[in-house]
Amino acid sequence: MAVETNGGAKSDTLRQRKVGDNNGDVARTTDEGKKVDALLDQHGSYEFGGPWGVTAMMTGFPMLMYYLWICVWFYDGKLVGPSSLDDIQPFLQRMWAHVRDDASPNLYAWKVYSGLVAYQLFLGWVMPGFMQEGLPVPSLGYKTLMYKCNALWSLYATMITAAGLHYYHIFRLTEIIDNYGHIMTVAMIYGFAISFGVYFITVATGNQMRMSGNFAYDVFMGACLNPRIGPIDLKMWAEVRIPWVIVFFLAVSGCCKQYEQYGYVTPNMAFMTLATWLYINACGKGEECIPQTWDMYHEKWGFMVIFWNFAGVPFTYVYSVVYMASHDPSMYRFSTPTYVLLFTTLLTAYYVWDTSMSQKSRFKMQTQGIHTFRNTFPQLPWNVIKNPTYIQTAHGNRLLTSGWWAYSRKPNYVADWIMSFTWGAIIGLATPIPYFYSVFFITVLIHRCGRDFERCSIKYGKDWERYCAIVKYKFIPGVY
Ligand code: NDP
Repeated sequence: MAVETNGGAKSDTLRQRKVGDNNGDVARTTDEGKKVDALLDQHGSYEFGGPWGVTAMMTGFPMLMYYLWICVWFYDGKLVGPSSLDDIQPFLQRMWAHVRDDASPNLYAWKVYSGLVAYQLFLGWVMPGFMQEGLPVPSLGYKTLMYKCNALWSLYATMITAAGLHYYHIFRLTEIIDNYGHIMTVAMIYGFAISFGVYFITVATGNQMRMSGNFAYDVFMGACLNPRIGPIDLKMWAEVRIPWVIVFFLAVSGCCKQYEQYGYVTPNMAFMTLATWLYINACGKGEECIPQTWDMYHEKWGFMVIFWNFAGVPFTYVYSVVYMASHDPSMYRFSTPTYVLLFTTLLTAYYVWDTSMSQKSRFKMQTQGIHTFRNTFPQLPWNVIKNPTYIQTAHGNRLLTSGWWAYSRKPNYVADWIMSFTWGAIIGLATPIPYFYSVFFITVLIHRCGRDFERCSIKYGKDWERYCAIVKYKFIPGVY
């Protein structure tokens, strides 16, 4: 039985249906959809402020990362600056001295960071994994790619290895946070080297796509879509195995440091360890849902994604951990009800994020006929919607209008942002710097949402308007 949407349109393309109503048929891109896909697979207008905007970001991000780390580590989390015009030069010299002395890319940092990258590549190659078919890729003539999803087993192996290295004093986990500056610099060098290296290799082998012709812009946006080495899809591998693993181990490192220093771990540090573990575990246990995300089937592998995965995420998202590792717990102690509120908010937001991502990805897999249930921990209630309603578009794809997606067009963004806010709130008002993640993230999400909706409105035309009329709110139901 087809459920008609408001407007009572009779056309197939404007109906809201339920999966299974049409005998579980598979969504296929129509000829009309293929024309739009071809249009979207070409470079259109410049985004991110064009060549000048992306150049500013490529130079500005590393400087911002140094500045924020210096403020947290050396200046009690205060946003320091020159005290007068005459102080500008001495101030810059002081900043440079910190970078030179405390964030040099020393041999130790090369070993630690390169060791992690090599170990994650090794695990990605050899660990057993769940094989998931991706969505049809327009630029590959609607061929689908297979993804080896072994991030979860790789994570468990990394945790066991790290525990062993720590226990036997081969590599003490406290060293990660103590060498934050040095490792961050090496991470940045990796980010730049891989971005430029991948760009040149792609162009040399003629595998570039959607190019603008402007060098800086194309390095930033990327040249290739699905770079692979053996069984490893580099883009998916780098999105999970580097940033979120480091973020989690920074929190673990902070715990070890507190334990060694005070003999206990504060609830705040335990909160960050739980929060970062939930995130990395979600990426691992639901890895088969990642090929259905925009990053995988549309965004190319350029500086924007590479630098952020290798350096940006790991070294700007957990300033609260860096602060706690270098300050007395009395600076950020809360009452029990406040802790209860923070933990409850984190777990609730996590639940919405996990299940909303799962609902949409699994719906997409079901409609492509490529869904197989994967029993990983934890599988939360309502992560798959039974008999979901959707809009059949003229393009061929289907837009889900059930579950969390009945209330908001971006429930996953809202929940993800709330989590990011708690990562700063766990430190209270001790320093503003840990809130950088949520402030930066909301800017990214709003901008990303604008780009995404623009693309969807071109791709789906009137069907997108119909979808927006049914799911009225972008983010928070009843508000916006
Ligand atoms: P979405 O998961 O919202 O994916 C958007 C795409 O999904 C659209 O382009 C469209 O693609 C499809 N889509 C949108 N609405 C529907 C619908 N109702 N039914 C079916 N398909 C739909 O966004 P992202 O891929 O950007 O983000 C994934 C997650 O990653 C989010 O939770 C986000 O917060 C997180 N993220 C985290 C970052 C971080 O640094 N922490 C950075 C960036 C993202 P189409 O129709 O073409 O298939």
